Amino acid sequence: MKVLTDKIALVTGASRGIGQACLHALANEGAIVVGTATTSSGAERIQADLNEKGIQGLGYCLDVTASQDLPDLLTTIENKFGKAPDILVNNAAITRDNLLMRMKDEEWDAIINTNLSPAFHLAKTCIRAMLKARWGRIINIGSVSAHLGNPGQANYCAAKAGLVGFSKSLAAEVASRNITVNVVAPGFVDTDMTKALTEAQREHLKTVIPMARVAAPEEIAAVVAFLASPLAAYVTGQTIHVNGGMYMA
Ligand code: NAP
Repeated sequence: MKVLTDKIALVTGASRGIGQACLHALANEGAIVVGTATTSSGAERIQADLNEKGIQGLGYCLDVTASQDLPDLLTTIENKFGKAPDILVNNAAITRDNLLMRMKDEEWDAIINTNLSPAFHLAKTCIRAMLKARWGRIINIGSVSAHLGNPGQANYCAAKAGLVGFSKSLAAEVASRNITVNVVAPGFVDTDMTKALTEAQREHLKTVIPMARVAAPEEIAAVVAFLASPLAAYVTGQTIHVNGGMYMA
């Protein structure tokens, strides 16, 4: 029997990259998966991919900054699958890099509104059912940048560091109900987010990553699937670094 049979997993930003890999990894363990994209065509692509692979689940159009839309998402999942998510993966994120001197208020706000606040709103949306079920998993996708600091990413690093404090506090609040809250902090991963790196930057990365390569999205998703599983029942409030040795906490 697969370890996540009968569990429902909600993954934000599941149209590509790490989120898509998480959707597949959780489904491989037997979970029913709900993946979100920002466009209806993206949601349709998620649904088509799930159908093609014979995975039970749903592609759903959601902008995570629109917290007013979350009750509809919850109702849709409950109506379609009979209960609220048991597993929440807050993965959706963007970058708006700039040196602080040049960083516009909108660039700061866009990152906090997309990369940090939705973790609060989505956790709040899902936690009531988890408390009632006395079981739940919340996994927030952080970043090595929050732990190393990264010039040009004060906004991104602040949001990702915020997820760490948020996760620790929530973990302490809900631990007695068998709900774990953790952060998975990737290093550099081969996704659209890192496509903008120049060849020179990629070569430099190899010199600062002891494993001398970037990660595949599946290598991050494997850790997410572990944290979602019953095997990780006693792991909470942690940041699990998955970075090829680039940063050793
Ligand atoms: P990606 O390939 O750029 O994909 C981003 C995903 O987030 C897409 O599914 C996108 O949906 C979604 N998204 C963006 N804005 C959204 C919004 N407002 N509402 C809902 N969904 C939104 O990113 P990735 O590289 O897989 O990164 C996934 C996570 O890992 C992020 O939290 C990122 O910060 C973290 N991370 C990545 C790396 C890396 O090297 N790639 C390193 C450390 C941490 P659409 O397709 O509809 O645009």
